[in-house]
Amino acid sequence: MNDIIIIGGGIVGLATALQIKRQRPGLSVTVIEKENRLAAHQTGHNSGVIHSGLYYKPGSLKATNCIRGYWMLLEFCEQENVPYELCGKIVVATKPEEVPLLDNLYQRGQQNGLEGLKKLTLSEMHEIEPHVRGVEGMWVPQTGIIDYVQVCEKYAEKLRELGGEIRLGEKVTQITPGNTLSVVLTDRATYETKLVINCAGLYSDKIAQLTQRQEIDVRIIPFRGEYFKIRPEKEYLVRNLIYPVPDPNFPFLGVHFTRMVHGGVEAGPNAVLAFQREGYRKSDINLKEIYETLSWPGFQKVAAKYWETGLGEMYRSFSKSAFTKALQELIPEIQENDLMEGGSGVRAQACDRTGGLLDDFAILETDRAIHVCNAPSPAATSSLSIGLTVSEKALTRF
Ligand SMILES: Cc1cc2nc3c(=O)[nH]c(=O)nc-3n(C[C@H](O)[C@H](O)[C@H](O)COP(=O)(O)OP(=O)(O)OC[C@H]3O[C@@H](n4cnc5c(N)ncnc54)[C@H](O)[C@@H]3O)c2cc1C
Repeated sequence: MNDIIIIGGGIVGLATALQIKRQRPGLSVTVIEKENRLAAHQTGHNSGVIHSGLYYKPGSLKATNCIRGYWMLLEFCEQENVPYELCGKIVVATKPEEVPLLDNLYQRGQQNGLEGLKKLTLSEMHEIEPHVRGVEGMWVPQTGIIDYVQVCEKYAEKLRELGGEIRLGEKVTQITPGNTLSVVLTDRATYETKLVINCAGLYSDKIAQLTQRQEIDVRIIPFRGEYFKIRPEKEYLVRNLIYPVPDPNFPFLGVHFTRMVHGGVEAGPNAVLAFQREGYRKSDINLKEIYETLSWPGFQKVAAKYWETGLGEMYRSFSKSAFTKALQELIPEIQENDLMEGGSGVRAQACDRTGGLLDDFAILETDRAIHVCNAPSPAATSSLSIGLTVSEKALTRF
């Protein structure tokens, strides 16, 4: 019998397990992951950026967890020798009409307590990134780069040292909630547990569904983000991280340049509807999953409202020259043949029935379960803080 079963061996599930064991070592905690390795999905396909907390509405769960999680992550990496680099980033207004948005972002960063933010003229930007083009910019020195798979491996090592268990290659297929215990069935075993914590990322709505008798009101809509890699001989065009000013309506859109902690520079990601939740290639299609997305009333409302933006992203996905053009807004010198095929990641974006795309992190509590229903970026940066938040909720039940 387990005290707590955590479903999902991504960064949120592992951080949650670790925080529970750190706070209450006597509780038995098991993480169940369907893949044969940790961090196989969102966590292992992200941009590897340590976000500073610049963008998020002050007081939101994203702002508070990102800022607290940022410091917790740095402390963890220092203690455990996980490599990272605080290289800073610049945010660039490429057109005069983006300058007020950049000013708002600067104010927001101040409200969120960021250190060392600085407005930049074009010549000041050129001292940091000689090849960038823009009207005005902002220096964000706290931003960093890291390998989140390495972070997960360290979380797992620490968790095991504290007596936590991790079961790889086991898919949770059924959950039967009882009065005091739930029965969790996987394709390999049966477990009894006092509490289920759902950190299943792209399948968090499905897992939530398994623990409920009625339909839950949120569906995960998968958005694939595709990257290009810059050819090694052109990497000199980007020193560190270069971001556009985000569109307040679509903060997760806007391709950027990111130097990776193990070397190389990535450009992207875009955001296109994925035809499969774990579909990393354009050709990956799961008819049942695409039907579930298309028939969700909330998705239909999003599609009706934002079809033009969606088509633009789709076009850039199929046309390398259109993708290059978007990148040239920031670095005019970059050319189509400077870009090599890169990887991709799929974002789990929760969408409610009315067409609301959940912006903030969302944690839902029911009788025998806690569900992390929406943990998009910056959830990797925020992981230890989200883990602590969930852990505190869990421990009130023991
Ligand atoms: C393209 C992209 C770029 C991003 N860039 C950044 C960034 O630079 N910085 C940042 O802070 N954040 C970034 N993010 C966000 C960040 O990566 C995610 O928010 C974070 O990884 C979410 O972690 P998770 O553990 O919730 O999900 P996941 O990593 O997806 O883990 C969920 C796990 O649950 C498992 N699972 C699902 N169903 C079952 C089941 N039935 N049984 C057992 N296991 C199951 C899955 O196999 C998976 O391993 C990015 C995300 C994407 C997609």
